[in-house]
Amino acid sequence: MGKLSVNIADSSYDVHIGADSYGLFTTDYTELLESVDKIAIIADEHVASLHLHVLQDSLETISCEILVKTVPAGESCKTTDVYTDCLSFLLENGFTRNSLLIAFGGGACGDLTGFVAATFMRGIRYIHCPTSILAHDSAVGGKTAINMPEGKNMVGSFHQPSGVLFNENLFITLPPREIRSGMAELLKHAFISDIAWTKELLSNPSFTNPSLEWLAPELLRGIHVKAKIVEADEYEKSVRKFLNFGHTFGHAVEAVCGFGGLSHGECVMIGMAYGLLLSETNGELNESLTNEFIQFASSNGYTFTPIHEHSFETFYSYMTLDKKASFGKLNFVLLKEVGIPFVKEIPKKQLEKAFEQLQSRTEGMV
Ligand code: NAD
Ligand code: ZN
Repeated sequence: MGKLSVNIADSSYDVHIGADSYGLFTTDYTELLESVDKIAIIADEHVASLHLHVLQDSLETISCEILVKTVPAGESCKTTDVYTDCLSFLLENGFTRNSLLIAFGGGACGDLTGFVAATFMRGIRYIHCPTSILAHDSAVGGKTAINMPEGKNMVGSFHQPSGVLFNENLFITLPPREIRSGMAELLKHAFISDIAWTKELLSNPSFTNPSLEWLAPELLRGIHVKAKIVEADEYEKSVRKFLNFGHTFGHAVEAVCGFGGLSHGECVMIGMAYGLLLSETNGELNESLTNEFIQFASSNGYTFTPIHEHSFETFYSYMTLDKKASFGKLNFVLLKEVGIPFVKEIPKKQLEKAFEQLQSRTEGMV
């Protein structure tokens, strides 16, 4: 089993990944689970229908009362309605400041559960049991959030979990789109940290069809990148911004495609192509890397269709709405070289030019 520690000032915790990680509930985590008065598993209803029994079996010997609250699958759980529903569930069932939550699902369920934990009685403890590849990113670092009709992740807080337990066996039911989504975030971690690793990933013929044996140590590598960044900058004042590589444009694609048409990582993949293009003129990246990346993305089932279906102005207006846009100025995470990210404000004219270049370099790709 793989393990690494995230060492943040007041809240250090471990991340475990392995087929037997839930076994830790009856060893390393028993003391915590037996010290609380009640436990609620907040579970993505789709994931629960497939795998809840695996989690419940591993908690069987815990004497504390454990309730299950299922929430709508995926992004649709990150609403104010579902959030208040969860709070009411906890209140109606007598949960207190000494209770604990377990998030069981992908990044959406994790973000919701984290936000419920952050705010219920001014903050209670929670454990992540992430079930998607993408959640190697979202379950580490303590960002929690729900969406508003006006925008994604507009309400949230920083609240670190007490532990993160990945059972990689649960990945086998992930649909191809969700595998692509999570693998894009893994590639992002490579791009911002390590050229050799990036090249390894870009030359992997099984990138979107990975074996579990290969995947677990790779995810740990991605988590390591994220953990080091979060340890250095928990509240995103400086280097944590690097984790947004591919996201400023990616979020705009996600918004334009109406949240749900494409997965988050698929949109980030388009955003990374855009980031690489901008890094040609603002960094020292070679055009051939961007082209290799675009080819790689396309041959692995990632699409560039949205940028041929919508205008630059449409994406631009969404980019300026992003909560990371400050006073209408758009800052992008770019790469001086692969592994060396930096942040730079890019003027609109240049953004438009890069958009046109991306259109022409992806011409004819679906
Ligand atoms: P998700 O949670 O929406 O899950 C995607 C779909 O996969 C859902 O339909 C879900 O039911 C299904 N699913 C999950 N695990 C499964 C499994 N094992 N088998 C079959 N189906 C499964 O998506 P995600 O990609 O895991 O997470 C995306 C969310 O994470 C977004 O809301 C994003 O904002 C958030 N996020 C947060 C952070 C952070 O730092 N907090 C970072 C990145 C992303
Ligand atoms: Zn992301």
